[in-house]
Amino acid sequence: MRIEFLGAARNVTGSRHLIHVNGSKVLLECGMFHGHRFEAYERNKNLPFDAREIDAVVLSHAHIDHSGNLPTLHAQGFNNNIYCTSATRDLCSIMLRDSAHIQERDAEYLRKKAAKTGQQPLEPLYTMSDAEKVMRHFVGLGYHRRFWVAEGVEGTFYDAGHILGSAVVVLEIREGENRTRLAFTGDLGHRNVPILRDPEPVEKIDVLITESTYGDRVHDPVEQIEAEFADVVNRTVSRRGKIIVPAFSVGRTQHVVYLLHRLTVSGKIPRIPVFVDSPLSVNATEVFQTHEECYDAEARRLDRIAGPDGIFGNNSGSYDIEYIRDVEESKKLNGRKDPCVIISSSGMCEVGRILHHLKNNIEDDRNTVMVVGFMAENTLGKRLVEHERRSAKNMT
Ligand SMILES: [Zn+2]
Repeated sequence: MRIEFLGAARNVTGSRHLIHVNGSKVLLECGMFHGHRFEAYERNKNLPFDAREIDAVVLSHAHIDHSGNLPTLHAQGFNNNIYCTSATRDLCSIMLRDSAHIQERDAEYLRKKAAKTGQQPLEPLYTMSDAEKVMRHFVGLGYHRRFWVAEGVEGTFYDAGHILGSAVVVLEIREGENRTRLAFTGDLGHRNVPILRDPEPVEKIDVLITESTYGDRVHDPVEQIEAEFADVVNRTVSRRGKIIVPAFSVGRTQHVVYLLHRLTVSGKIPRIPVFVDSPLSVNATEVFQTHEECYDAEARRLDRIAGPDGIFGNNSGSYDIEYIRDVEESKKLNGRKDPCVIISSSGMCEVGRILHHLKNNIEDDRNTVMVVGFMAENTLGKRLVEHERRSAKNMT
C-alpha cells in the first residue's frame, strides 16, 4: 500500500488522499481548494492524477473543502462509485449544486469584466449539469455497515460528530498475507455538538490519517452556551427588540433552530416567532429533518415530543418557526415590529440576505446581532465582532 497526500497538507482546504493498493486507486475525499481566484482555479482544475484511473472515492463528510471538487473529477472521466453515509449524500446533493451555482455566477462576472478589458475569460470550474451528474455516482450507506471499496479493501463508517452524516472512515486492507486497518478521521467533532452523537472511538488501528484545523481551541461547555443564548434572547425580548443571527446554512443554522426549540419547550425563553431566511438553509434543514438516524439521545427525545414535523417543525404548538425561500416573503420581515429571531446567511455576513437584515435592524438599539460562529479576518462578520464603528475604507 502507498498513500499520497495531495491536499490539506500544510493548509486547510482541498482535502484529498490517494491510496494505491492491489493495483487499485482509492481516493479519500475530493475537496475544493480555496484561495486566490486564479491559483484556486488552476489547482482545482488540474488534478494531480488521471480521473479515469480512480477506482472508488470514499467521502467522510459533505463540507465543500472535502467534497467540492467531485464534479470536476466526474467531468474529467471518473465513472465509479463514491461511498459516503446517506446523510452526506443528501447534503452533497444540495451543497454541490450550490457550489456549481457560485462557480457559474463568478465565471459570468469575470466574463463581463474580461469583455471590458479584453482579457481571456475563465470557464466555470464546473457547471450545474456537472454537479447533477456526479450525484448519480453516490452510494449512501448507514454507519457500521461494512462495504466493498476495491479489491482487498472494505470500509466502515463511524460517527465523527462534526456535521450531519460525518464519519470516521475505517478501511480494512488485505494485501496477500498482510492485513492493515487504516482510519481516516476527516474533520473530527467534539463531544456534545447539538443534535449529533459524539465521535466514536475506533480500535486496533495500524495507520491513522487525521486533519486538524482548530486544534488549539477549547470549546465552551454546552450548558454555558445555552444559558448565554437564553439570556441574550430574554434581554432582547424584554426591550421589544429583534435578534438577528448570521449563520452558515449547513450545520450552524440547524443548531440554532434546535437550541431555540429546546429553550422554548423548557420555558427558558418565551415563545416568539423564529424565521430561517435563506433557500440553502431551508434545503439543508430538510436534509436534517429526514435523517433522524444521525440524532443523539437528546435530539431524539425532543423529536418525539415535538409533533409530526419533529425538532425542526412548526406543528408542535410549542414552537413558532417559519422557513423562507421566497424573496418577497423575506422582504416582508422588514415590516415586523414585534420581537422575533431571524436566522440568515451567509455565516460571515459577506453575501446573502443577512446583509439586508443587518442593514434594516442594526441601528435600532433594542435589537441584537447574535454571533454564533467563526468569523474570518477581513469579513463584515469579523468587523461586527470587533465593534468597528465604520467601514475601514471610509476612515481616513
Ligand atoms: Zn468539515
